[in-house]
Amino acid sequence: MEFRDLKHQYKVLKGDIDNAMFEVAASSAYIMGTPVKALEAELSEYVGAKHCLTCGNGTDALTLALMAWGIGPGDAVFVPDFTFFSSSEVVSFVGATPVFVDVCEETFNIDSSDLEKKIEEVKRDGKFVPKVIIAVDLFGLPANYPELRNIADKFGLLILEDGAQGFGGSINGKRSCSFGDISTTSFFPAKPLGCYGDGGALFTDNDEWAGLLESLRVHGKGTFKYDNVRIGMNSRLDTIQAAILSVKLDAFKKYELDAVNEVAYKYGERLSGVIKTPVVPEGFYSSWAQYTIRLNSKEQRDKLQTSLKEAGIPSMVYYPVPMHSQAVYRESDYNKGDCPVSSKLCDTVLSLPMHPYLKTDEIDMISMTIKNILR
Ligand SMILES: *Cc1c(COP(=O)(O)O)cnc(C)c1O
Repeated sequence: MEFRDLKHQYKVLKGDIDNAMFEVAASSAYIMGTPVKALEAELSEYVGAKHCLTCGNGTDALTLALMAWGIGPGDAVFVPDFTFFSSSEVVSFVGATPVFVDVCEETFNIDSSDLEKKIEEVKRDGKFVPKVIIAVDLFGLPANYPELRNIADKFGLLILEDGAQGFGGSINGKRSCSFGDISTTSFFPAKPLGCYGDGGALFTDNDEWAGLLESLRVHGKGTFKYDNVRIGMNSRLDTIQAAILSVKLDAFKKYELDAVNEVAYKYGERLSGVIKTPVVPEGFYSSWAQYTIRLNSKEQRDKLQTSLKEAGIPSMVYYPVPMHSQAVYRESDYNKGDCPVSSKLCDTVLSLPMHPYLKTDEIDMISMTIKNILR
C-alpha cells in the first residue's frame, strides 16, 4: 500500500501526460514556453485571483512575496508554530524575525487569540515592527481567514497565505490561494496538485505587486531581460512541469478533489469515536493534503505507528518537531516556547494513507486494523 499513490495517478492520466511532455520536448521552448502562460491563466481562473505567477517551488513563492513587500531586518512576521519548516525559514532568509504563534488543536491552523496576544507582545517590546501574518492552510484546510482579516486590519498587517497544502480548499465557496494579500502554493509531487519535480505559484489581485513579482522571479528584470533594476532570483516553473500540471489540474477539477473528500468521509464514518478524526468547520472545505488523526499520548501514537507498519500500512508523523524547538530557532528572540498546543500535536498526530485513488476496501482494512490495535 502507498501513502500517496502517485504511480496509480500516472497510470490513469498516462496518455495525456505523455503527450504533453513529448510536445514540450519537441517544441524546445523549455523555459517559459506557452504552456506556462496557459497554466497561469487556468490557475488564476480556478482560484479566483486576478494574477497568477508560477515559480520554481513553494519556498521561493513565499520568499518572493516577502521580497515584493520589502520585508527584512527589524520586521516581525507571525508564523504558526505547527507547520512545515519553509513557512518560517523564508522569514529568516530575508532577515526578518519569525514570531511563533500557537495553533488550534482541532483544525491544526493558527490560533487567532494567541496571534493577537503575540502581536501585542511584539508591539509592547518595541524591538521589531509587526508586518506580516503568514497563515498556513495545513493539511488542506484553509486557515480561519475571516478572523485573520479582522486582526490584520486592526493592526495594519499584511496576510501571506501559505497555501502549499491548501490548493483546492475553500471557505463558503471562496477558494484557497485567494485569501492572502499575496497567496502561494507548491506543486511538490505529494501536494494536492503536484507536478513531476519542483514547482510553485503566487496569486494576488494587486497589479503593482504582480509586476514586482514578475521582475523578482527573473533576476529583477526591468523592461527587458538584460535590464536589471533590482536584486531578484531565478525562479521559474519549467515548461514541461506546466504542461503536466495542466493535465493534472483538469483531473483535479473533474474528480480528484471530490474523490479525496469521499475518502475523508469514509475514514470519518469508520474511525469517529475510535480516535480523534480531523475537524472541518462549517462552511470550510479541505483538499486533504493529509488525513491526520490525533491520539491520546505519544506512547499510544508511536505504538499505533509501529503496529500499522507491521500490518503493511504506511503512516507519517507531520510534524514531529514544533518550529520553536527547531535547533536553528532555539535561541531566537521571540521563541518563548509557549506554544503548548503545537507541542502536544507533535507528540500525538499521525497521518494515514490519503489520495484520490484510495479504494474503499483499503479504507476498510486500515480502519479495521486501527480498531484492532487500539482495542
Ligand atoms: C511543502 C510546503 C512548502 C514548501 O514548498 P516546496 O515546493 O517544497 O518548496 C511551504 N509550506 C508548506 C506548509 C508546505 O507544506
